[in-house]
Amino acid sequence: MSKTDDDGTGRVGDEGRAAQTDDGNVPIAEGVDHQVAMVMDLNKCIGCQTCTIACKTNWTESGGREYMYWNNVETKPGAGYPRDWEELGGGWDDEGQERTPGELPDEEAYGRPWEFNHEAIMYEGSDEPLRPMENADWGPNWDEDEGAGEYPNSYYFYLPRICNHCTHPSCVEACPRSAIYKREEDGIVLIDQDRCRGYRYCVEGCPYKKVFYNAQTKTSEKCIFCYPRIEGEGPEGEVRPPSCAEDCPPQLRHVGFLDDEGGPIHKLVNEYEVALRLHPEYRTEPNVYYIPPYAPPQTGDDGETVDADRIPLNYLEELFGPQVEEALNTITRERERAERGVESELMEILSTVNNDDQYRLEVFDDAA
Ligand code: SF4
Ligand code: SF4
Repeated sequence: MSKTDDDGTGRVGDEGRAAQTDDGNVPIAEGVDHQVAMVMDLNKCIGCQTCTIACKTNWTESGGREYMYWNNVETKPGAGYPRDWEELGGGWDDEGQERTPGELPDEEAYGRPWEFNHEAIMYEGSDEPLRPMENADWGPNWDEDEGAGEYPNSYYFYLPRICNHCTHPSCVEACPRSAIYKREEDGIVLIDQDRCRGYRYCVEGCPYKKVFYNAQTKTSEKCIFCYPRIEGEGPEGEVRPPSCAEDCPPQLRHVGFLDDEGGPIHKLVNEYEVALRLHPEYRTEPNVYYIPPYAPPQTGDDGETVDADRIPLNYLEELFGPQVEEALNTITRERERAERGVESELMEILSTVNNDDQYRLEVFDDAA
């Protein structure tokens, strides 16, 4: 497994991955004791939105949060949520030093909650089909399962997204009141609701558009990495992974600390280098990582297998940077080893169904 050289800046290298520390690892932020992180295996996502609902019912059901999806699952290729978020700017310049301007998504880009004709159907005897009462032409997941490519070689995959709790967060530096901050014990990015004045510079500054403005409270809000759960503050008092991870039916998320050298996150990111950042060129250094998706090869007109990628490599590189080919090759190599009966630690990590192996949150006393 090759590693790119440290570029000496302590920030993101030319090839879009984080510069590495002397021991070859992805560094955590200065002033942070440990960094929580998540790895999502995109090969397991079935797009069921259980994670979306788990987050919504915990944190954003009402009070000006109706339009917010701190966890969303979008179809790629696709416009995503909010619509065309990848074109709205934010993040850092090529050197990772200056913030680049970002735009505020408008209400339409998030998708307004529609009123449906429930009343007519339920109480007025109407036999109309259930439908929105206004012209609905965009909403979250409007382009679900559309994807790209020509039949029979069309393709798509699901991309679950939460706040990345970045190491170099442009939302934090955008706030003139220091209301948004990275907490020292575990690097979770939080907004102090008492300090926030709702300027929304953080919304502009986040290139992933994962900070949301609450028009009722007039403050900004975002994913909190379910910190009460990882602090063991629930009714049973035990440390639990975030809801979006724990409730996922195929259990595709690993949660732990990036700097826990015995943990799965460290192995997937630093040792095997198969877990990659989304849009590393934004240079915020996300701490949510993805195992890139596989797809069957293309088929020809007569149904024969054609030696061509179904998901174009250049599209995966656009999303996950230039390491994606090497990451896929590593997984292929390890899978073939496992198929031959040779022990493969990587395949064991990726295929585990044991929650104790997937979630390692009680490693550091000072972070638990
Ligand atoms: S970590 Fe918690 S707050 Fe963040 S998206 Fe997942 S469920 Fe929502
Ligand atoms: S719950 Fe899991 S499988 Fe379902 S959409 Fe979310 S990440 Fe994908």
